[in-house]
Amino acid sequence: MNPFIFYNPTKLIFGRGQLEQLPKELSAYGSKVLLVYGGGSIKRNGVYDQVAGLLKGMGAEVHELSGVEPNPRLRTVERGVEICKAQQIDVLLAVGGGSVIDCTKAIAVGAKYEGSMWDFVKRKALPKDALPFGTVLTLAATGSEMNSGSVITNWDTQEKLGWGSPYAFPKFSILDPEFTATVPEDQTVYGMVDIMSHVLEQYFHHTPHSPVQDGLAEALLKTVISTAPKLLAEPTNFEHREIILYSGTMALNGLLAMGIKGDWATHNLEHAVSAVYDIPHGGGLAILFPNWMNHVLDENVGRFKQFAVHVFNIDPSGKSDRQVAEEGIQALRDFWTSIGAPSRLADYKIDDKNFDVMVDRTLFNGPFGNFKRLDREDVLAIYRASL
Ligand code: NAP
Ligand code: FE
Repeated sequence: MNPFIFYNPTKLIFGRGQLEQLPKELSAYGSKVLLVYGGGSIKRNGVYDQVAGLLKGMGAEVHELSGVEPNPRLRTVERGVEICKAQQIDVLLAVGGGSVIDCTKAIAVGAKYEGSMWDFVKRKALPKDALPFGTVLTLAATGSEMNSGSVITNWDTQEKLGWGSPYAFPKFSILDPEFTATVPEDQTVYGMVDIMSHVLEQYFHHTPHSPVQDGLAEALLKTVISTAPKLLAEPTNFEHREIILYSGTMALNGLLAMGIKGDWATHNLEHAVSAVYDIPHGGGLAILFPNWMNHVLDENVGRFKQFAVHVFNIDPSGKSDRQVAEEGIQALRDFWTSIGAPSRLADYKIDDKNFDVMVDRTLFNGPFGNFKRLDREDVLAIYRASL
C-alpha cells in the first residue's frame, strides 16, 4: 500500500425517514437558504413538498435555483452564484442527483470568489472558502453526496471537466432509499454502471499488497451485480434500492482509494464524449469501459484474471491467464447489456466525426491514466473500438 491520509468530514445520514433530521442539520449554518434542484422530478415524487415543509417549519428564508441540467452547466452555476451574492445566502441545500449536487458544490465555492468559478475548474485558482451546503440525494450513482469532487460542463467551449477541493465536501447528506424509488429504469441502470465504474477505476491499479482494498472493491461489484436484476424487476423494492444507494456512496467516498492509486482514464474518456454529445454519464461509461479494458489488458493480465475469477466466477481451469482475463471483460460487457446499458457509440448515433475534438479534450492535461498512460493514439484506438 501507499502512504495515505483519509479525510472525509461529511456527516452521512442514511435510512428511511431520515429527512426529519434536516432542520437540525441545516439550521446550524444559518436561515437564508438557497434550495437547488433539477428539472422537476422532486416536484413529481413529493420530495420537494417534504423539504419545503421542513424549511418552512424552521422559519428559513428560502430562495430557489431550479432547472439544473443533467451534466450541469457553468451558466447555471453562475446563476446560483449571483443569487448567493445578491441575497447573502447562508447555506445551500441540494435536492437531487449528482448533477444537482455537483452544481451546488460549484456555486458554494463560486459564491466566495470574485472571479469566475470556471477558474477553479481550469486550475487557474484554488478555492479558499465556500458557503456551507448539505444534500438530500435522490439518485444512486455518483458518490458526490460524500466526496469533494464535481463535474461541470462549459457548453460554450464544449468542455466537461472534473474539479475538487476540500471545501467541496457536503456538511451533511441525507439518503433515504425511498426517495430513489421513482428513478426511471434507464437512469437506474446508468447509476449502477457509474457505481461499478467508480469501483473499477480504483480496482485497476498497480499498487502491491492491497488485499483489503481488493476485497472491498470485489464485494461492492458483486453486490451491484447480484442486486441489479432484482431491482430492475421490482423498482420500488426498498431493500434493493437501499443496497444500491449505499453501494454508490461507498464506491466513491474515499474508502476504496486508501493506499492505492486509481486509474480514472475511462471517466476522462467519457467526459469528452458527453462534453460534445451531452449523453448520460453512465451510458458513456458502459460503452467505453470494456474497450479501455481490452486496450490495457497487457499491462497486468493477472489483475484482469483476478477480476474475472473473483467478480464473475469464471472457471480458470485449463485456460491461459489471458483467456480468463478476456472472459472477465466479456462477462462485464454481457452483464451491462443484460441490464439494458448501451454498448456502442452508435447507440447514441455517435460516429467518428468529432473524434479529433474529443481526443483533444481528453488530453487537456497531457497523457492520462495511471494503470496505463494513454496518449493520442491510445485514446483514438479506444474510441474507434467503441464505435
Ligand atoms: P443526474 O444527472 O443528477 O440525474 C439524471 C436524471 O435523473 C435527471 O433527469 C433527474 O431529474 C432524474 N432524477 C433524479 N432523481 C430522481 C428521482 N428520485 N426520481 C425520478 N427522477 C430522478 O444523474 P447522476 O448520474 O446522479 O449525475 C450525473 C452527473 O454527475 C454527470 O455530470 C457526471 O459526470 C457527474 N459525476 C459526478 C461525480 C462526482 O463524484 N461528483 C462522479 C461521477 C459522475 P430532475 O433533473 O428532474 O431532478
Ligand atoms: Fe462517474
